[in-house]
Amino acid sequence: MRLSKYFLPTLKETPAEARIVSHRLMLRAGMVRQASTGIYSWLPLGLRVLQKIEAIVRDEQVNSGAQEILMPTIQSADLWKESGRYEDYGKEMLRITDRHGREMLYGPTNEEQITDIVRHAIKSYKDLPKNLFQIQWKFRDEIRPRFGVMRGREFLMKDNYSFDLDEAAGRHSYNKMFVAYLRTFARMGLRAIPMAAESGPIGGDLSHEFIVLAATGESEVFYHKDFDRFDAMAGDADYNSDLQPVVDHWTSLYAATDEQHDARKCPVPEADLVTGRGIEVGHVFFFGAKYSKPMGAVVQDADGNTVPLQMGSYGIGVSRLVGAIIEASHDQAGIIWPESVAPYLVGLINLRTDDEGCLKASEGLYAAFLKAGVEVLYDDRAERPGAKFSNMDLIGLPWQVTIGPKGLEKGVAEIKSRASGERTELKLSEVVKHFAHL
Ligand code: ATP
Ligand code: MG
Repeated sequence: MRLSKYFLPTLKETPAEARIVSHRLMLRAGMVRQASTGIYSWLPLGLRVLQKIEAIVRDEQVNSGAQEILMPTIQSADLWKESGRYEDYGKEMLRITDRHGREMLYGPTNEEQITDIVRHAIKSYKDLPKNLFQIQWKFRDEIRPRFGVMRGREFLMKDNYSFDLDEAAGRHSYNKMFVAYLRTFARMGLRAIPMAAESGPIGGDLSHEFIVLAATGESEVFYHKDFDRFDAMAGDADYNSDLQPVVDHWTSLYAATDEQHDARKCPVPEADLVTGRGIEVGHVFFFGAKYSKPMGAVVQDADGNTVPLQMGSYGIGVSRLVGAIIEASHDQAGIIWPESVAPYLVGLINLRTDDEGCLKASEGLYAAFLKAGVEVLYDDRAERPGAKFSNMDLIGLPWQVTIGPKGLEKGVAEIKSRASGERTELKLSEVVKHFAHL
């Protein structure tokens, strides 16, 4: 993409309404624009990041054996009356009445909707297990929308739902998602710590929130200091194997959110306990028959008995992650995108559009990048070098490739890593090859 043609409404001034760094940088980098409180339009640069995150989330879901579906954003209130949550949900639910006077709502989550789909389709233990996911917009009329996309009213969530015959199988489905989440966040360059969260009626430890540590996080968290020694989850996961050892490893150290933490009962000595703040990027939950029972989602087991489905639900805040990644990865000059979610891998800068040689070399490189399938944003504008550099730093592409008269004399381009700031030179003929391998 040529910057001269790109719709990238960057801001010079720091917007006064933005109180945390990710919100400020997203507005300054022209990624989003607020439409109304807690509701955002995604502009080209922001949308590319959102889609990259979505793709990683999808890939890890599919890897784990989950199947993608798409449910509507607008749901009928009837289903929520069946589960008993219609009244309970309160003012966070946006309630709508259609022209026939029917009560509808903009879905804040989809347990009822999915249970309705499954109860009509799954009748036998032979059809189990199933795990269905979607990536869909949600609406919650949050009392305090803030921090930009981190706590929006309309936001993009990956939600999925597992269906099993018994609790042991349900636990395996839960463990699969637990591992898939560790992998998902690690691929985005995030270290997310699973923390014991409020457990459902089943009890036990079957609810975890995945928390990215950040000073600006909304959740207060308590965790054992040895978590610093835990590496992000790398390598392949064998979803057919028993995943309990992996889950046990990640839950071997104490970690809890403030709702769950009780200083009097905490097993960790004070000297080993870190109190910090974090951003909840995901939540996994096993709740057994909580919805299947009232909604009559039952199957026949092998002995011909009718039993309610054992369910779990699992959410990832896809749009919140855009902000969370920026909170975890930025500096004074702007965003530092991890390669896996960067809107473009390379920012190509022509320092002198008025110089014949620079123009030719830059255009040649741009064409070669495109041909090689390298995602490149090309600053072909007639701007001052200083403005070009600060703009590239602000939008945070992992690599900057600069063409200027001095380098050209030696036949090289300057390569800068956004993360380390390190600069190197590469022969012009080597540049595209170098990035095509990344
Ligand atoms: P929170 O405690 O932050 O309100 P929650 O526990 O209500 O979150 P869940 O119902 O578990 O959230 O939703 C799954 C995921 O969706 C959360 O882990 C979070 O990443 C994301 N999410 C929830 N509410 C919002 C919101 N208002 N804006 C953006 N993302 C959200
Ligand atoms: Mg909430």
